[in-house]
Amino acid sequence: MELHNLTITQAHEKLKNKEISAVELTRAVLARISAVEPQIQAFLTVTADEALAAAQAADEAIAQGRISPLTGIPLAIKDVICTQGIRTTCGSRILENFIPPYDATVIQRFKAQQAVMVGKLNMDEFAMGSTTEHSAYQITRNPWNTHCIPGGSSGGSAAAVAAGMGLATLGSDTGGSIRQPASHCGVVGLKPTYGRVSRFGLVAFASSLDQIGPLAKTTADCAMVLQAIAGHDPADSTSAPEAVPDYLAALNQGVKGLRIGIPKAYFDTNGLDPQVAKAVLAAIDTLKGLGAQTVEVALPHTQYGVAAYYVIAPSEACSNLARYDGVKYGLRDNTATQLLEMYHNTRSQGFGPEVQRRILLGTYALSAGYYDAYYRKASQVRTLIMADFKKAFEQCDLIASPVTPTPATPIGAHADDPLAMYLSDIYTLSANLAGIPGISVPCGFSQEGLPIGLQLMGPHFQEGRLLAAAHAFEQATAFHTQGPNL
Ligand code: GLN
Repeated sequence: MELHNLTITQAHEKLKNKEISAVELTRAVLARISAVEPQIQAFLTVTADEALAAAQAADEAIAQGRISPLTGIPLAIKDVICTQGIRTTCGSRILENFIPPYDATVIQRFKAQQAVMVGKLNMDEFAMGSTTEHSAYQITRNPWNTHCIPGGSSGGSAAAVAAGMGLATLGSDTGGSIRQPASHCGVVGLKPTYGRVSRFGLVAFASSLDQIGPLAKTTADCAMVLQAIAGHDPADSTSAPEAVPDYLAALNQGVKGLRIGIPKAYFDTNGLDPQVAKAVLAAIDTLKGLGAQTVEVALPHTQYGVAAYYVIAPSEACSNLARYDGVKYGLRDNTATQLLEMYHNTRSQGFGPEVQRRILLGTYALSAGYYDAYYRKASQVRTLIMADFKKAFEQCDLIASPVTPTPATPIGAHADDPLAMYLSDIYTLSANLAGIPGISVPCGFSQEGLPIGLQLMGPHFQEGRLLAAAHAFEQATAFHTQGPNL
């Protein structure tokens, strides 16, 4: 097998047994990036020199008998996570030249294990979008069909894993941005519980929803990455104090006796592509064959989720993005002679149309006189959605659903219709509103050969249960072993 196709689990064994070196593995991934990146456009920055130096250091550690699960493993990072000394753009012109003076906590944890970072990945600007078309720099292509979107906003993270340009990657998920691109690119993506992973050094989009999580070729690899990054961090006051379980040990728990909740309404809508419904229902049958039971659950407020999310997320975004004023970070318009003019010009030039739309939406929703009608109402709906899940999890252990209503769409399909893009988040954003974990695992292909994902959601801090069920599904199927022809 070519080295860039290895899973983390396989590569770790080979590094441990000294069958391969970290430098060899890193060179193979960098060679793969040179070969296929021109078609895919997943990277905003490739850090080849730094990667080879880190691989060399990893090899020295291994030679001295020091090896952690991620030692010498080539990984790539969504460009919304701060990396010391390495440009971090958030896919935006406004941060085109921003070089963070510090590492995000997740990066510090990778460095502590001597993982190897090969680069920073493309994304929708400030993680706003579901297609990666809203990057200020380039459109990332779906490795399964380069005329299609990879999904978003972590489109670079999903495409890179699918194309073998990193053994695993990190993404961020505010309303589906890890799970949806994972589904579209045929890889596994996990959004952890809100607070499970430190967000110190994650550039904020919507602070009550954002989470960092892994994308990888297998569930076991996701478990290894989650193990490295999960846990309390004094630098992030929203990170949870809960102890971190052994996710690798949890992997083999299987699904026997698990009650899987099926939200019937999720499948009874016109918006759901019949091919997606068929693949997801077949996946649920597979889980039943492995010993799980199914129960019908009601999540009656899901239908209001998109409306609530697209008030709450833009409101938080307009506040978080107020800091990009041309004074503190990145771009500054130098033609203005007055302060207000400088703010105006900098923000007009620095932010793309989707980000401007969100800022306007949020500013409107928070304005005096509108707050009660929009933000407060949306927060009340959010409470109802949380209560729906709480009630559902009294009857079941996990919930199974589609990740996205359709397989990946052609590039440009949503260009003039942002609402159509927003509506496609229907299955994913409830988990963010409720703060619960969700995973997307490959479960089929459309007639056109595009990947389809199964979403499993669980109660707060039950990532282990999600990983066990997804792993059991993988053991019984071969979808995750297939890769695109590049
Ligand atoms: N598509 C959603 C949005 O545009 C979610 C994005 C995300 O999870 N970062 O807001």
